[in-house]
Amino acid sequence: MKKTLFLAYLALLICFLLPFVPLPGPEAEAIPPPPEGSTAGTEAAPEAKTSPEPEEGPAAEAEARPLTASAPVETIRLLTADGTVLELEMPDYITGVLAAEMPASFEPEALKAQAVAAASYALYCAAGNKHAGVGADVCADFSCCQAWQDEQARRDKWGGDFEQYERKLRAAAEATAGQVLRYQGQPAFTAFHASSAGATEASGEIWNPVPYLVSVDSPETAGDVPNYVSTLDCAALDFRDVLLSARPEADFSGDESGWIGEIVRDGSGRVKTARLGGADFSGTELRSLFSLRSTAFELSYSEGRFLFTVTGSGHGVGMSQYGAQVLAKNGAGYAEILAHYYPGTELS
Ligand SMILES: [Zn+2]
Repeated sequence: MKKTLFLAYLALLICFLLPFVPLPGPEAEAIPPPPEGSTAGTEAAPEAKTSPEPEEGPAAEAEARPLTASAPVETIRLLTADGTVLELEMPDYITGVLAAEMPASFEPEALKAQAVAAASYALYCAAGNKHAGVGADVCADFSCCQAWQDEQARRDKWGGDFEQYERKLRAAAEATAGQVLRYQGQPAFTAFHASSAGATEASGEIWNPVPYLVSVDSPETAGDVPNYVSTLDCAALDFRDVLLSARPEADFSGDESGWIGEIVRDGSGRVKTARLGGADFSGTELRSLFSLRSTAFELSYSEGRFLFTVTGSGHGVGMSQYGAQVLAKNGAGYAEILAHYYPGTELS
């Protein structure tokens, strides 16, 4: 992981990043870890962070709460960043997740879809007993469970808009209270991401296959998403050095114009593998090495420089938040949005 981070910094330092300004879009990248037992998440894509080891200690045998039962879950025990465990009413918890994971300016139906996805994902995490050792169901770390912001953080973020946004997010949380997306009776692994390039990614392309995380159309375009298309322009020697740091065996002795070999795309159009300097790199590996916003990219060479042109943001699996926003603007309700992005699940 440290090596990956180092390489990512290296890439950022030596490459010239064009329009890559902070988004007014989703604050966190909405990145749940891969499903339990996944081995495909070890490839060091930014979203595939390794979860912390389960807490040790005498409390580790604390009984798990039956959060996967079909009865509505009214409270959740949240492990916060400072190590305290808060027991929160579900709408309070979901309001904090919405604030952290989706722009409060989004359509109410998109926020409701996110609220159900967040509740389902929380129960999915809780069922994994990651934090049972400290008596918590979930934590507030987006790289482990999902992001959450407390009221003070929301006040700081929204300033004069606090009352308005707070009311709006709470309304989405309360309107969907008790609703969970399930697959075969169990809370669904409701992965989500910021924006897709025409279609979402099938989970099996980057993690383990999940029956309801398949590639589906996603309607957002450059007109809907800030910085939908981003570019990374890299001098040839820097491009070579970043790739060599990961694949010392690659051969860049030939003419620069011949360094790009075959690029294989998966069913959603994202880069599955690219042969560069005679070595094969996966799309997620290149995304990590060059800090690209997604694996939906084109790569070209011209006059001593390599150019990545990247569409969308995030791993691409599950619900696209900007796609949900477009569907909501076009009149879709939250249940319809969820059924679109998680086909085969049931809203209970
Ligand atoms: Zn966690």
